[in-house]
Amino acid sequence: MRFLRFTLFASLATPLAAQPSPAPKLTVVISVDQLSSDLFDEYRPLLGGGFAKLGQGIVFPHAYQGHAASETCPGHSTILTGAYPARNGIIANVWYDLSQTRSDKAVYCAEDERVAGTSSTAYTVSPWHLKVPTLGDYMKRQWPASRTVAVAGKDRAAVMMTGQRPDQRWFWNGKTFATDLKGGATPQTLISARTAIASLVAQPQAALEPPALCAAKATIVPVAGGGQPVGAGRFVRAAGDLTLFRASPALDGATLALAAGLVLEMQLGKGAAPDLLAVGLSATDYVGHRYGTEGQEMCLQMLSLDRDLGDFLAFLDREVGDYAVVLTADHGGKDIPERERAAGVAGAARVDPSLAASNVGKALAARFGLPGSVLYGSNFGDVYVDRSVAAGQRARILAAALATYRAHPQVEAAFTNEQLARTPMPTATPDKWTLIERARASFDAKRSGDFVVLLKRDITPIADTKGGYVSTHGSVWDYDRRVPIIFWRPGYPAQNIDLPVQTVDILPSVAAMLGLPIAADSIDGKCLPQTPGAACTTR
Ligand code: ZN
Repeated sequence: MRFLRFTLFASLATPLAAQPSPAPKLTVVISVDQLSSDLFDEYRPLLGGGFAKLGQGIVFPHAYQGHAASETCPGHSTILTGAYPARNGIIANVWYDLSQTRSDKAVYCAEDERVAGTSSTAYTVSPWHLKVPTLGDYMKRQWPASRTVAVAGKDRAAVMMTGQRPDQRWFWNGKTFATDLKGGATPQTLISARTAIASLVAQPQAALEPPALCAAKATIVPVAGGGQPVGAGRFVRAAGDLTLFRASPALDGATLALAAGLVLEMQLGKGAAPDLLAVGLSATDYVGHRYGTEGQEMCLQMLSLDRDLGDFLAFLDREVGDYAVVLTADHGGKDIPERERAAGVAGAARVDPSLAASNVGKALAARFGLPGSVLYGSNFGDVYVDRSVAAGQRARILAAALATYRAHPQVEAAFTNEQLARTPMPTATPDKWTLIERARASFDAKRSGDFVVLLKRDITPIADTKGGYVSTHGSVWDYDRRVPIIFWRPGYPAQNIDLPVQTVDILPSVAAMLGLPIAADSIDGKCLPQTPGAACTTR
């Protein structure tokens, strides 16, 4: 029924003339981590809370995070910059800088590795890798009184959506909500939220009661690689278990409650200039990684998120009134290969452990008479040849590494840094991009590897599941690239628009709604003419 209504609205909608309307006093940008278009399509007809309300806005159910590195940091970097990772510098969650003097050569996207004594895992949170302005920066330039606030379940989500100069930025650091900003008083709502969350975590969590819709999905599925079976979980948690707290609906509830507290305390949307609130809801991603996307666990997460989002929007209706919402995701995702195979995806499999860069690098080192491993990297994505390899041997090792990867039955393609540097940035719609164009959109000559490895469709790049992660994203395939984008504001006509627009189109579209000038040649996205009130000046 719902789909019929949307279809009717879409077909009857008359083309909207660009009618500039007053800018909303508060723009709320929500990223639901790992909300693929596939997951959105599956649950949209079943949700009656926040998603149903936003579904009455302008919905692009199948938009794109077009770039190859479909990970959290690059994904969040596109949402409010209008720029691909190739332009904004955030090419992956983690890359390597082999010229670093510290022993850990990996670099975390949202760290400042120049701080002495830090590593890519024990880091100082910082936006310094992000090379371009965010929406909040543009707003402050136009209206110095404008305020930018971020609240997220992950530091990289909060940092990449708000960049260099937010007024408040809070993220879950695994134990509590923390900030990277120096100075200034801690808001009272943070103090209350920390206490409330600490006492919640300190209590054990009994099994959630699944509605019939979710109970119908409760089938236990064994997982290869040593991990626990999944499929029928109900978020039981022992007192004090922070890992399971994070991978549960409670994380999003806490994030939204804190966001609401900051709206009240800072009186966002009531100031002299338009404000921005960026919210990163990370639980869907943690639940997806831990349990996959098609079990009872994800069903409970979707229903809980829908309810919490509904409460949050009702709060904004009451307290702010004139606000706009954009909801999207940083990347998509897919289910565990074990359940996918049972559902008929014959090629679904876990990655061959021999593809780990350390293993390929060890075999090559032995072949060339060198100690240790000569490669840095993961089991797909960017791979780097050790800088200590003598120049004469380097080209031969690189060629041998490429031959090894390209000959592997799970590898779709491997592109060298030189090949990518020669490839023009794609200009077609992202559904038409070739594989090398997808890789080009997250390529940075200085930060990217000597080559990039792309796995075949339906290969899950997690071999060892003992650590608790059973499923992931990060591939060049559409299940990881396609995400919904929703623009909602009171009075927007309901429209369901099945066009391959992009998350880089959000910044220019919101800028047009706000009346913010953005130089078209400084971004990759295009203002979407379907968003009413948007006088698309950057087109
Ligand atoms: Zn993510």
